[in-house]
Amino acid sequence: MVGRAPSVENSILCVPLISFIMCSLEDTRRTYPLFRTLKPAKVYVTDDVYGDPAAAARVETMMSAIEPDAPLQCVTYDELNDIAPQRWSSVPRWGAVVNPRDPDLVLTTGKFWSDEQKQSFLEKYPNLATHDLAGFTVKAWRRDGETDWREENRGTVCQSAWQLHSIMGCPFRCAYCGLGGVNRILVNVEEYMAHLNEIVSLDPKQRLYKWDNVTDVSVFEPELGHSKMLVEYFADKPDRYLEIYVGKSNNID
Ligand code: SF4
Repeated sequence: MVGRAPSVENSILCVPLISFIMCSLEDTRRTYPLFRTLKPAKVYVTDDVYGDPAAAARVETMMSAIEPDAPLQCVTYDELNDIAPQRWSSVPRWGAVVNPRDPDLVLTTGKFWSDEQKQSFLEKYPNLATHDLAGFTVKAWRRDGETDWREENRGTVCQSAWQLHSIMGCPFRCAYCGLGGVNRILVNVEEYMAHLNEIVSLDPKQRLYKWDNVTDVSVFEPELGHSKMLVEYFADKPDRYLEIYVGKSNNID
């Protein structure tokens, strides 16, 4: 059984956990890395990451908890565009993988660009649309609360909300899930946070924000550091709520 690469808009894969019970605001650095040491075959870092000192430092921190088979490879988008169809054109659901192993990692930047800039980029690098390797989906509106959406989607009922996205893919191996193969992680977290006010201001009446239902966000903490920043941001906004999607991890403080 082969699963299509999931769309961000239509994935409900993890059980949400309200943020305030997940993370303390203290320094939560552990004496052991990530939720376990990841052992991917490949780790690719796009070269633009090294134009952002904080993002580059984050890669170094994350690599301290990762043991790839091959050395970390810095790649241009041109090179990643060639690699993508060779390695991730068809990602089976975890349950269909014989001898599963940790997904490849692609560490790149989230892009806060205009639609025209994005279109032009994908015309040049069309293979980077898959798994959002381009890093375009930093947010998405999910219409769970709207009647037509509910009727089209198994009758499930939830609140509509902005989804915040920075990770695509997950190293857990739930048999029904197609989020293996590659984990794309946005490492320019400071830049992401600098744009968060723009996202939160898109609809002043919106109070719920969901992060990130195409992964288990706690897997990559504390090295990624995005959970702590988001929790602190929303802790300062008494009328706004962050819902954190945690699937199978007990990597929770
Ligand atoms: S593999 Fe990860 S993202 Fe997929 S269902 Fe399991 S915990 Fe959720």
